[in-house]
Amino acid sequence: MDCIFCKIVQGELPSKKVYEDDHILAFHDINPIAPVHVLVIPKKHISSLMEIQPEDKELIGHLHLGLQKVAELTGVNQDGFRVVTNIGKHGQQTVFHIHYHVIGGRQLQWTM
Ligand code: 5GP
Ligand code: ZN
Repeated sequence: MDCIFCKIVQGELPSKKVYEDDHILAFHDINPIAPVHVLVIPKKHISSLMEIQPEDKELIGHLHLGLQKVAELTGVNQDGFRVVTNIGKHGQQTVFHIHYHVIGGRQLQWTM
């Protein structure tokens, strides 16, 4: 499968890792939109939020605890941050391996 995030998981493409365990990986976005912009992914290939299956419930819960860890490791837990997952065309998803953007380190606005 030609998935860049699977290649990052397998070490075939480089990444700047923030956190890793058996099930998830967090790494800096290559094109950050804020001082902190980290992507958190499951190592298992799931193409988007809409493809999460009932058997993935524990994994997705674990990933959410990973979001907390990433917030603490990057310091954005102090002043707050945003978690975003883009889905499909209108969501402007460009990489079809589910990922959660952790964005912070500056005041964010809410305009779409
Ligand atoms: P999406 O638009 O699918 O929600 O987000 C994909 C994100 O992945 C973008 O923010 C983009 O900058 C990032 N990205 C794309 N390719 C790479 C890569 O090879 N390495 C890293 N670290 N980030 C990437
Ligand atoms: Zn993948």
